Amino acid sequence: MRDIREITIEQISTWVAEQGEPAFRGKQIAESLWKRGVRSFDEMSNLSLSSRKKLHESFSFKTATIEHESRSKDQTAKFLFSLHDKKKVEGVLIPSRERVTACISSQVGCPLGCRFCATGNMGFTRNLQSHEIFDQYLLMNQKSREYFGHDLSNLVFMGMGEPLLNYEAVMGAIHYLTAPRGIGLSHSRITLSTVGIVKEIYRLADENFRAGLAVSLHSADERIRQHLIPASKTNPLPELQTALQYYVQKTNARITFEYVLLHQVNDSLQDAAKLAHFCKSFPVKINILEYNETGSLFKSSPKHKRDDFLNFLMDKNLIVQSRRKKGEDIDAACGQLATRETEK
Ligand code: SF4
Repeated sequence: MRDIREITIEQISTWVAEQGEPAFRGKQIAESLWKRGVRSFDEMSNLSLSSRKKLHESFSFKTATIEHESRSKDQTAKFLFSLHDKKKVEGVLIPSRERVTACISSQVGCPLGCRFCATGNMGFTRNLQSHEIFDQYLLMNQKSREYFGHDLSNLVFMGMGEPLLNYEAVMGAIHYLTAPRGIGLSHSRITLSTVGIVKEIYRLADENFRAGLAVSLHSADERIRQHLIPASKTNPLPELQTALQYYVQKTNARITFEYVLLHQVNDSLQDAAKLAHFCKSFPVKINILEYNETGSLFKSSPKHKRDDFLNFLMDKNLIVQSRRKKGEDIDAACGQLATRETEK
């Protein structure tokens, strides 16, 4: 039976008409699903029992549940979600002084095989549907209230999977998260992170994407980048640069580059110089990430190299932020927990 959240609001209205119910019932159902975030027909308390029964007979709810959770001593919380078909994805809640950010997944596993990423080693199972992405938001928002006393403030598509390889479902979820008749989050509080799928960056630009765009760059040297991110062979740096220039022209946005510093791989001053040169073409912010090396072949850069790298970029007047790793004691990096559960 089809999940009610797999059909459009228009299709719900058609179904309502077929049942001989008044037209406003369609609005009530849509509001329950996307604004109140109900996850069962019993929670639709604004509907009569007979309406709920009809829904029950026609549709299902394929909800995600939290199968496992762990909390780090730094307050980061990590969740293993179980989907209706028992597949697993991960989400992470990251509190900071003024916000709580949820990192959510867009695919079960990932086909891109980035070498530093635990998800990349798992292979790809399937795309998530919009409601499965939306469920991660609902479940982590509940946890944010429980643990930190307020709603999620930010959402990043930086969990398992490459969001631009599941374009429609991710855009569908962002629609329901931002629509006034949905959760109503501001676009500025959502960031989509991609390894740089050139074709889809043009599509984002042409569709006037309004949330933030982050690119996992990790190197501005083609050879090193192709080693770290095999998918960059078909999305080489010059093409990525041109696509990002187009994106900035169309949307007027600033790009965020994510750059994880790996010891003796991409952390020299020559690497910093290449990065600075690559950033010349458009307004950027650079996030320098400390690597969470649990179970990986790569090592995190030592502090002095990290400082040199940051200082070099700042001397070039670039906007640079340094992000410390979080939740190392709970396998908080993307894919670590699901890998562990699969291995069990
Ligand atoms: S870093 Fe992202 S794109 Fe690369 S393998 Fe991991 S999940 Fe996939």
